[in-house]
Amino acid sequence: MARTDDRQASVSAVEADGTTGRRYARVALDVPIAPCFDYLVPPALDGRIAAGDWVLVPWGRGRKIGIVLGLANTAEIAAEKVRPIMGRVDEAPPSSSAWLELIDFTARYYHRHPGEVMLPAVPKLLRTPPSARQRKESAFARARKRFVAPAGSPSPDMAAAPGLKPAQAEALAALEQGEGFGVFLLHGVTGSGKTEVYLRFIASRLAADPIAQVLVLVPEIALTPQLAERVRARFPGEPIAILHSGLAEGERAASWLAVADGRARILVGTRLAVLAPVPGLAGIIVDEEHDPSYKQQEGVHYSARDLAVLLASQRRIPVVLGSATPSAETWQAARTGRYRLLTLPERASGAPAPRIEVLAIDRDMPPDGLAEAARAAIAEVLADGGQALVFLNRRGYAPVLACGQCGWLSRCDDCSAYRVLHRVAQRRPQAAGGARFRLVCHHCGGEQAVPRGCPACGDTDLRPVGRGTQRLEEALAQTFPEARIARLDRDVARRRGAAEAMLDAVHGGEVDLLVGTQMLAKGHDFQRLRLVVVADPDGALFAADFRAPERLFATLMQVAGRAGRFARDGRVLVQTRFPGEPLFAALQAHDFAGFPDRMLAERREAGLPPFGHQALLRAEAVAPDDALGFLGAARDALLAILAATPELAAHVRCFDPVPMPVARLAGRERAQLLVESGSRPLLHRALSRWLPELDGLAGRSRWQLEVDPSEI
Ligand SMILES: [Zn+2]
Ligand SMILES: [Zn+2]
Repeated sequence: MARTDDRQASVSAVEADGTTGRRYARVALDVPIAPCFDYLVPPALDGRIAAGDWVLVPWGRGRKIGIVLGLANTAEIAAEKVRPIMGRVDEAPPSSSAWLELIDFTARYYHRHPGEVMLPAVPKLLRTPPSARQRKESAFARARKRFVAPAGSPSPDMAAAPGLKPAQAEALAALEQGEGFGVFLLHGVTGSGKTEVYLRFIASRLAADPIAQVLVLVPEIALTPQLAERVRARFPGEPIAILHSGLAEGERAASWLAVADGRARILVGTRLAVLAPVPGLAGIIVDEEHDPSYKQQEGVHYSARDLAVLLASQRRIPVVLGSATPSAETWQAARTGRYRLLTLPERASGAPAPRIEVLAIDRDMPPDGLAEAARAAIAEVLADGGQALVFLNRRGYAPVLACGQCGWLSRCDDCSAYRVLHRVAQRRPQAAGGARFRLVCHHCGGEQAVPRGCPACGDTDLRPVGRGTQRLEEALAQTFPEARIARLDRDVARRRGAAEAMLDAVHGGEVDLLVGTQMLAKGHDFQRLRLVVVADPDGALFAADFRAPERLFATLMQVAGRAGRFARDGRVLVQTRFPGEPLFAALQAHDFAGFPDRMLAERREAGLPPFGHQALLRAEAVAPDDALGFLGAARDALLAILAATPELAAHVRCFDPVPMPVARLAGRERAQLLVESGSRPLLHRALSRWLPELDGLAGRSRWQLEVDPSEI
């Protein structure tokens, strides 16, 4: 290759005069101002460009890589402003029609532009044109080289595989018999052996067809290495691709490409993996399908779980949704027979379910936040050489700092929230001067030093109020001075490798007492863990969001499931000021079906999902009246649309705009407007008529529509 080709090694450059030929390509580009632009198809490329092709286009004084969404005979901008496509990126994998269809459906369902769905789904490295400084090798060639297939045997290694319990065998048989599209809910308590069913399901899909691929979704980055490890051990000869947002760019591009061109037959990833092109897709697994992390919270707010079901129906393949505490939506579908319910009723290890006790507590608690019975239970387990876990879903040292004199509270300047007191990690813990603290807003990230005196009255009596994991850890160290204590939460996990090191220490028997948030609740098998104390679940009991109890139940079930997974005497103590709440009774009775049944009855009564469908229009502006004013005008516009169409008026309901729960965030005022309907098609019809009017009404507000909002 000649030197001059360096800059365009991956591009078949063409001559283009830009005036002959009148074919235009609509190209998706990753730029913030708009999701797609028109470019002229130069004569040399006429007939050689189709939807899904990767192209190099001029952008300002530079160039960008985009993907062709479609061709047209007219441009949306003045013809003289349209610039020609510079060339095709021939090294990119061809976009399959199935992938384009998925992108297109996602865009239509969430009322967004296909470009907004497509480009973010492609690793950044692959959408970056090679620069003059780069070597001859294109990003594609480098990424392809990077992904090396293992040289093991292609058949699964069953040497270490546990035998199947009858319920597991039955579930597997149902999955294997399924022909074409089918949704299976694999409902099993923690430790019931769902993963073993997944592994055998993967094996059967791969064995049926040499080009078959399987997609495995997990809710969190932290859970990918663990599952990937088990998959790798079972399929030593299969190339396995991993996809999540925490990967280095090169790695992510290599994985994405290996899946897109069929070299990797197993893809394990977080929600973004659902939008990867998987040409040979033959089966999908969505582990912990109820997990809110499957909902994308930036850009297009898609639900990876819902898209996985759609993808399965498009490709006519089976999809397995696994959970110990299925979401209300999934549970309802299983109850009505739309999804097939497969139940794993017992723990695969044979250990009985842990004993769950509810401890009534007062507002005033000792510094370690433990009731006497909980402290005694921990002491007993520790004395016996076992491990105990104290669960508190609140990171930081204390949720708020208060002045004992005047009642000043550490409010965030930019949000309607408190700044949380955090102990700052010390580089040299032995250093004199004691711990250092900072105030951090969990909403906007705003930070400040802890004031020496009260900003309002100058008094120096500033006290932390309440308890986060850092303070709990500190107090537990005083209560149990002999115990080796370790903490895991997002603050710990932020340091690269810290979470892994902590978990290794736990597995290696170097930890007696674990303190942590949700991060400890999910997916980890702690062999010596015999006791779980839930320190303070009450905050989530009375949250405004109708999904909050469902989430709390799922979290508590999950954290309770950690106890005694391998022992006969697992015990869970839930401390609460509201021991009479039905949720705790369901938890105590291990009533996995009763809780969602009751919840569904309430939702049906209120017309809430899954019995109703929702869309939420969110607006934000610097001035509080702007956002609410815009939403008021938007509501009027919708009411006018409904009034003009009796069918819509009868089935679509529009609520009044209200400030969001955290009304002020990072200095912007936020409000929301809820639209509901018992009919999904009618809701979407109303939305498509409504949305085009919104930009004209928005003024100084920014807006975004969320279909099937996960939080209200
Ligand atoms: Zn004060
Ligand atoms: Zn803030």
